[in-house]
Amino acid sequence: MTPTQAPVTSGAGPSGPRLEMTITPGVSFPDWSVVTSQTVRETLDSIFEVMGVEELWSGLGDAEDRVRRAILDYYAEAGRAPSLPRLAEITRFGPGELRALLEKLEARDMVVLDPRGETITGAYPFTERDTGHQVRLGDRVLNAMCAIDALGVGAMYGKDASIESTCPACGAAIHIETRDHGAALAGFSPSGAVVWSGIQYFGGCAAESLCRVMAFFCSDAHLASWRNANHPDGKGFRLSMYEGLQAGKAIFTPMLAAPSTKECCHE
Ligand SMILES: [Zn+2]
Repeated sequence: MTPTQAPVTSGAGPSGPRLEMTITPGVSFPDWSVVTSQTVRETLDSIFEVMGVEELWSGLGDAEDRVRRAILDYYAEAGRAPSLPRLAEITRFGPGELRALLEKLEARDMVVLDPRGETITGAYPFTERDTGHQVRLGDRVLNAMCAIDALGVGAMYGKDASIESTCPACGAAIHIETRDHGAALAGFSPSGAVVWSGIQYFGGCAAESLCRVMAFFCSDAHLASWRNANHPDGKGFRLSMYEGLQAGKAIFTPMLAAPSTKECCHE
């Protein structure tokens, strides 16, 4: 098994070296080219630091990566995670080997399994749980782990997506549409809606920590009232909807990107 990753850091930012890793030949994670906002740079730096993302991706083998990609492909096709027997059929790994690979992906916090390890309950950006962030992709409706994940879905598949969520402070409906194959916003309502990217990570599982403090709010006023009531001292970043899309694209576009043919053929 050849590790496909070569961690490197480059492009030192104001707060130190900025994470940049090759996760697939010719594909860098994150995609800094889509980030123009300094606030988004700082948000991503904080997310990667708190999660230890460099270590999570480091040394990901080809077999693990095949399983990771197969799960994400299946989510888009079927609107849910594959069963383990179905995933074994698709990837052609035997049941024991597949279980071992899934456990490795779980340790990397790329896949979430039920406590017995028999069911895939999530794979970022998706979860089987009702999070209140629904993404429509083609004729499928999926639950996104959080607001940033929801905004990254369209670009990851190169398809337009629409998102339905609600303001945690007042329950108002929030609606977002993308255009340009998920790369840009076609529109969102209400017009004052914003994204909050809180920063917290524990238990080796973003689904249970980081994603719980990443949400859409109908307005800055309701973000402020929710923070005062729930996380008065919680670290985080307020992003415009456009900045939230940049963050989602930077994280998720590389995840299913095809290897560059220029670099893949040295092997
Ligand atoms: Zn509200």
